[in-house]
Amino acid sequence: MAPPSTPDKFPSLYVLNYSLEPDMSSPNHRDHFDRMARIHVGKDSKQKSFEIHKGILCFYAGYFQRALNGSFVEAKKGEVTLATESPHTFDMFQYWLYTRRFLPDTGGQDTRQVHWTDLWVFGDAHEVPLLQNAVANQLVKRFADTWKFPTQYVGVVYAHTTANSKLRRLVIDLIGKTSSAESHLQPKHYNLYPQEALIDLLGITWRRERVRMTREDVRSMNVCDYHVHEDGVTCTAAVVVP
Ligand SMILES: [Zn+2]
Repeated sequence: MAPPSTPDKFPSLYVLNYSLEPDMSSPNHRDHFDRMARIHVGKDSKQKSFEIHKGILCFYAGYFQRALNGSFVEAKKGEVTLATESPHTFDMFQYWLYTRRFLPDTGGQDTRQVHWTDLWVFGDAHEVPLLQNAVANQLVKRFADTWKFPTQYVGVVYAHTTANSKLRRLVIDLIGKTSSAESHLQPKHYNLYPQEALIDLLGITWRRERVRMTREDVRSMNVCDYHVHEDGVTCTAAVVVP
C-alpha cells in the first residue's frame, strides 16, 4: 500500500496527541503498534540507534515498507542501517512520526531552514510524502511570518533536489513571485545562488506585467500545488497551514 500523502490518513490505533478514537472493532487495530524495529543511523562513533514501532514506520514510509517486509535480511532481523543519514534528521523524523509535529527549533534561522530541507530530502529518499507535505506547509507559514528566505538556503535546496522537485518550485516561487528582479542583482547573490536558481528566478521575474504576491497572498496560497501526491490525489478542501 502506498504511504499516505494526505493528512486524513492515520495508522490504526492512532491515539497519540490526537482525539481520534481508534477503531477497536477492527481485528487489525493493533497492527501498527506491534513489533519494534531498530534503525541504526549514521556511521562510526556518530551512529545512533532508534527503536520505532515497525507498523508506524511502514505506514508512513514506502522505503521501510519494503525493507522491513519480505525476505530481506533487514526484515528478518527487524533492523535497518542508514549509514549516510544524519541522526539529528532521523530524530526529527521519529518525533514527527509519533506526533505529526516538529521538534522545537534550535539554533539560528539559517540552521532551522536547512533542517527543513534535510527533512524534506529525507522524506523524498524514503518515500514519506506526508512528511514532505508537512514541511512544505511549514515553509510557507514561516515565510509568511518572517517575509524572508536566507539566501544560503537556496543553494542547499538546489544541491539536494532535482529540476522537477516540488521543493525547488516552492522555494523559487516564494522568492521570485514576491520580489523584484532588481533585488536579485546584488553581487553577493552571484556566488550564493546556483546558476540554475538564477535562471529559474529570471523565468519568474522578467515579466514586466507580473503582479508580485503580497504577504496575504502567501498566507492564502494553495500549498497543495507544491505537495507530493499520487496521481489524481489532492488534499481535500484548502490545506490548513498548522
Ligand atoms: Zn496536498
